[in-house]
Amino acid sequence: MDRLEKICVEKGLRMTDQRRVITQVIAGAEDHPDVEEIHRRATEIDSRISIATVYRTLRLLEDYDVVHRHDFQDGRARYEEATDDHHDHLIDVRTREVIEFINEEIEALQERIARELGYRLVGHRLELYGVPLTDEKKS
Ligand SMILES: [Zn+2]
Repeated sequence: MDRLEKICVEKGLRMTDQRRVITQVIAGAEDHPDVEEIHRRATEIDSRISIATVYRTLRLLEDYDVVHRHDFQDGRARYEEATDDHHDHLIDVRTREVIEFINEEIEALQERIARELGYRLVGHRLELYGVPLTDEKKS
């Protein structure tokens, strides 16, 4: 049993063969695939998996906080395994490449802002959108 599947079981999610395949695909992804891409990868393992099953399973995994859904403003939801180590994303608006980063200053700043507003921070999402500096020089 892989890590993600184990977490699902621990959270009380009943694991069917198809759910197992879909969690495997997400656990094995190094990018942030959308539903269609997850479906494509899942059908390479089990061709009977329908796109509807992928949608349903992703919604379930999201409800159980096992996967995170992202909206990187290109009209499609993207998914990744929910891990303990938090990171933020920078999206290259030309290539749609997603770059992960961690910045301690931003983390500390967000904590401070929340505290100053009278809150304890329990989570945040941050997306940066950019074009490569090298591209700008050329044009
Ligand atoms: Zn990520």
